[in-house]
Amino acid sequence: MLIDAHTHILSLAEDAEFTTEYGREGSLCIYRSLGKLPAHRTPTEQEWEASGYSRRGFPVIGPAESVRDHPGFDKIVILAVSPQFLDGELIGTVDSYGITGVPGPPSPEKCNDYIAAIVASDPETFIGYASVNPAYRGPAAAVRELERAVTELGLAGLKLYPMYQDWSPADPVLAFPVFAKAEELGIPVMVHQAGSTRIDARMEYARPALLDAAGRHFRELRLTIAHCGLPWVDEALFMLTKHPHFFAELSYYIATVTPEELFRFLVHAQQSFVPLEKLFFGTDYPGFLYDPAGLRAKLLSVNDQAERVGSAPIPQAQLDSILGDNYARMFGLMA
Ligand SMILES: [Zn+2]
Repeated sequence: MLIDAHTHILSLAEDAEFTTEYGREGSLCIYRSLGKLPAHRTPTEQEWEASGYSRRGFPVIGPAESVRDHPGFDKIVILAVSPQFLDGELIGTVDSYGITGVPGPPSPEKCNDYIAAIVASDPETFIGYASVNPAYRGPAAAVRELERAVTELGLAGLKLYPMYQDWSPADPVLAFPVFAKAEELGIPVMVHQAGSTRIDARMEYARPALLDAAGRHFRELRLTIAHCGLPWVDEALFMLTKHPHFFAELSYYIATVTPEELFRFLVHAQQSFVPLEKLFFGTDYPGFLYDPAGLRAKLLSVNDQAERVGSAPIPQAQLDSILGDNYARMFGLMA
C-alpha cells in the first residue's frame, strides 16, 4: 500500500495578500539557500516574482490537484490546521474559493468541516485528521470540537501544532485534556514537534522530548512525530525507542537530505533500536519543494548507496512498508 501520511489542502488564510506575505516570510531563507533570492537584503517584488515562488503563497489545492500530484498512491492523509491569530489575522485551513460546499462565509473556524467535506468527496483516497488549538478558545472548547469532528464529522485522527500556537504539548492544563479525549476516542494523533522556518513559531515548544509527558500519561495513545523531529532527529528517534506507540513521519526531513544521508539515517535508526516499522513516508504536500512522486523515488533508491557506504542494503520489504504498510498497520487498515 502506498500512503502519504502528511499533506495539506485548501488555503491557510482568507486574505490572499496576507497568505502571500506569510508564505514568503517562512520561505525567505529557503529560497536564499537555493540561490533564488539575494541573501543580505530584503528581496524586491520583482525578485520574488522571478524566484518562482507562487504569487498566492501557500497554494490553494483541491482534492483533484492532490490526487493528480499523488500518482499511484492508495491513500492521502489530509491534515487540518486549527485556527489561531497571527498579527491580528485568523489563520488556519480555509476554503476561500468555495470548493467544498461547506455553507456560510469562509473561516478557519470551520477547518474540520472542510477536511470532512473533502474526505466525503473521495473517501477511498482521503484520510482526514481534525485539528484543534487549546490556546484559541480554551481546552474545554478544543475537546468539544475534537469530539464533534470525530463523532459527527467522521474525521479519523488529530493534528496538533503547539509551537505555532504558543502552547506546550507537556502542559497539563492545555494539552492533556486534548490527548485524553483523543485516547478516549481511539484516534491517532500527529504532532508538529519539530522546527519551523516561520519567524513567529516558538522553537522552545518544538522539541520532540516535550512529548514524553504525553507518552507517560497516555499509554494507549498512538502518537506520530511530524517531520521526524527535524532538527532534533535523534531526539525523535529516541522517543520512538522509549514509547511503544510512538511513530514518526519523514516529511521535510526527507526533502533536505541527500540519498546517501537518507540511507545512513535508516541504518542509524536501526542501530539506535528504532524498528523501521515505526517510520512513515510523508511529504507535507503541497509544500513547494515536496513532490510526492520524486520523494517516493528517492526513498526507493537508497540502496544504491549501500556499497559506497559499506553497509548492508535495507531489505526492500522494509522500504516498501515505510511507503505505506507501516502507516496502514498503525491506523488499523491492515493487520
Ligand atoms: Zn505540514
